[in-house]
Amino acid sequence: MRPEFKYEKEVAGTANARKRKLEQYRKIVSHVYQNGKASIAEIVKYSKMSQPLVAALVDDLIGFGILLDDGIGESIGGRRPNLYCINPEYQYVIGVDINLHTLNIALFDLNNKLVCREEYKNCELENSPKYTDDLVIRVNQMLTKMNLTAGKILSMGVSIPGLVDAKNGISFTHLSFTKEGLSAYLSEKLGFSVVLDNDARMMALGEKAFGKAKGKKDVLCLNLSNGIGLGVILNGQLYCGKNGFAGEFGHILIDPDGDLCYCGKIGCLETLISGTILVKNIREAVDKGQPSLLSQYKEEGHNIDLRAVVSAIINGDQFAIDQLNKMSEYLGKGLVTLIHLLNPEMIILGGRLAHTGKYIVDPVNMVLNKYAMERISSETEVVCSDLLDDAALMGTLSNVMKEVLRIS
Ligand SMILES: [Zn+2]
Repeated sequence: MRPEFKYEKEVAGTANARKRKLEQYRKIVSHVYQNGKASIAEIVKYSKMSQPLVAALVDDLIGFGILLDDGIGESIGGRRPNLYCINPEYQYVIGVDINLHTLNIALFDLNNKLVCREEYKNCELENSPKYTDDLVIRVNQMLTKMNLTAGKILSMGVSIPGLVDAKNGISFTHLSFTKEGLSAYLSEKLGFSVVLDNDARMMALGEKAFGKAKGKKDVLCLNLSNGIGLGVILNGQLYCGKNGFAGEFGHILIDPDGDLCYCGKIGCLETLISGTILVKNIREAVDKGQPSLLSQYKEEGHNIDLRAVVSAIINGDQFAIDQLNKMSEYLGKGLVTLIHLLNPEMIILGGRLAHTGKYIVDPVNMVLNKYAMERISSETEVVCSDLLDDAALMGTLSNVMKEVLRIS
């Protein structure tokens, strides 16, 4: 099922006439969506359609309820123009961010405003119908809470770790038990379309549409949480590769004599750096009596998880900072390779570890200073995401709108 606006079903005519009409409507809705508001004259200029045609189409779209008359705007010489905007409540987009241990569900209006968000902690990602059944229940609970029916949902965007065939809506690594593919499976149960993609790519898309990658052309977006993901923006476009598997940065070989990775290979970058490894190393040291804020935390009966480790780092825990520094050395060396290959203008660190801010950016920069070719790396800025835990959710919203409006 392709995501489409409700009004698209109401457009009648022969196949060709209908297709032409829908394209004309889409041009207008797309322009207004991307600009917030627009006048007839602006739409005429952008769409290269005639003034009377645009005026008639805008009238139709107001009739459908997707556009609103936003009143009189500023004059740029002559009569002050009428402005039109998207009706934010015409339909809504659901964003689902599936992680190994947490699940986030959000509801956005058509002004990209987050109107509801639920976070489910300790929600272990398991390859079973129970997980998807619970997901469907939780999405429906949000609809009930917000007093919405399935018909008010434009589409649901899903972000999931691992290998994903976005074109066909198939997840290979997680929730792979469905015969028809995860998108079709969820869509059947929920009654609206589902657009699926990999988490690092969704974070990159979120950064591109709403975060620090906005307006930039060549950006690498890292998801540093339990594993390592990479979303690549090249020449202003999300780079997917032939099968959509581009960006498996965590599985490049770093240490041929290293540990076995869950992917089956030995010595992958992800066996040396990831939130999971950081937590494992810290737990082992704490068990052996390592002095740390986290030792006290454990003595108080708490479980040392990634959140606790990040919090200890931010609070200046010397041992946890040391462990992050060691890990940043490997991360930096991996990034040097990417910088030399791709010459990015910015590297955005996202995911749970990006909450540590300067504690991860500074050691990474030190490694880049040491190992990267000065002329190439001097123009590459390393920053932490400011969307942080919302990056993937914002990316799923952008992914849905890209599909619906067919924008790049
Ligand atoms: Zn691996």
